[in-house]
Amino acid sequence: MAAVLIDSFGRTAVDLRVSLTDRCNLRCTYCMPEEGLQWLGKPQLLTDEEIVRLVGVAVRDLGVTGVRFTGGEPLLRPGLVGIVAACAALEPRPELSLTTNGIGLARTAAALRGAGLDRVNVSLDTLDAATFHTLTRRDRLRDVLAGMAAADAAGLTPVKVNTVLMRGVNDHEAADLLAWCLERGYELRFIEQMPLDAQHGWDRRSMVTAEEILERLAARFALTPEPSTRRGAAPAERWLVDGGPAVVGVIGSVTRPFCAACDRTRLTADGQVRNCLFAREETDLRAALRSGAGDAELARLWRAAMWGKKAGAGIDDPEFLQPVRPMSAIGG
Ligand code: SAM
Ligand code: SF4
Repeated sequence: MAAVLIDSFGRTAVDLRVSLTDRCNLRCTYCMPEEGLQWLGKPQLLTDEEIVRLVGVAVRDLGVTGVRFTGGEPLLRPGLVGIVAACAALEPRPELSLTTNGIGLARTAAALRGAGLDRVNVSLDTLDAATFHTLTRRDRLRDVLAGMAAADAAGLTPVKVNTVLMRGVNDHEAADLLAWCLERGYELRFIEQMPLDAQHGWDRRSMVTAEEILERLAARFALTPEPSTRRGAAPAERWLVDGGPAVVGVIGSVTRPFCAACDRTRLTADGQVRNCLFAREETDLRAALRSGAGDAELARLWRAAMWGKKAGAGIDDPEFLQPVRPMSAIGG
């Protein structure tokens, strides 16, 4: 096998998502139940050093060029700034980004930028405090907005914003959210709700589709497909807003899947490689690492894990089964 993460369909993974924790300080209804989940124990979690070692194997030996830290909520990881700094010192240096709910980012954005973080995606589903509470079961909208402003001021730009629309809750806010982001120079991307919630409450019939999102935006903005970029591996279809240069993205994970161009590989907080968000198998790099495997052996296991990646997520397959791990434990 070649020294890259190629699968049997010829796709090469260069984009690594690393989950730093399965814990979270919000309880988004499409992600987690009110009472939270059974969290991983400390011995199960990779240490900071183990994470950096595995990211090192990925960038030096497996051709990974971009690393995104996620969770759970990655800002809850005490060693985050140190992990970013150590990953920024790797050769070749990967592009480093973070997906966060923004709580605490106001305090850490400058340190993260200083450590070498290149960009952030902040999740924001509503601009209304009451709706924020309905969606996340917490009153933290102000913290999120402060986090976004701090990220922008620290140069983690352009700040990207991830939004999930839920029917009857925040779907009427699509155009308002876009107007708000345009005013601030933030780049908004809508994500279709996927069947990855811990409570298994996803229902295709109530999901707000990419097509509906575009219709809602088109009522206020002129959208034209962005001409300069092919969609390529990027999951978002991007549209110029009112002729550009501002853009809006729509990630139709369910109705417009991008599996054929997927370039992702995932590492969970407890050291399991997953070749797809929807995979039902994992490869245990933590056990290998803790029993003394060298970098070459870790790389071999990682390549073998990716080789078995399926052609597609299979959400439309009548036999589709949701993965055992919910999104928050996989790393979104
Ligand atoms: N806690 C961080 C956050 O919310 O950004 C990082 C982890 S979260 C799992 C990553 C992204 O996944 C967020 O943008 C969130 O909105 C999205 N997400 C969570 N559950 C989802 C679902 N069932 N369908 C689609 N997106 C989901
Ligand atoms: Fe937490 Fe992110 Fe899941 Fe919301 S989507 S509960 S912020 S992990």
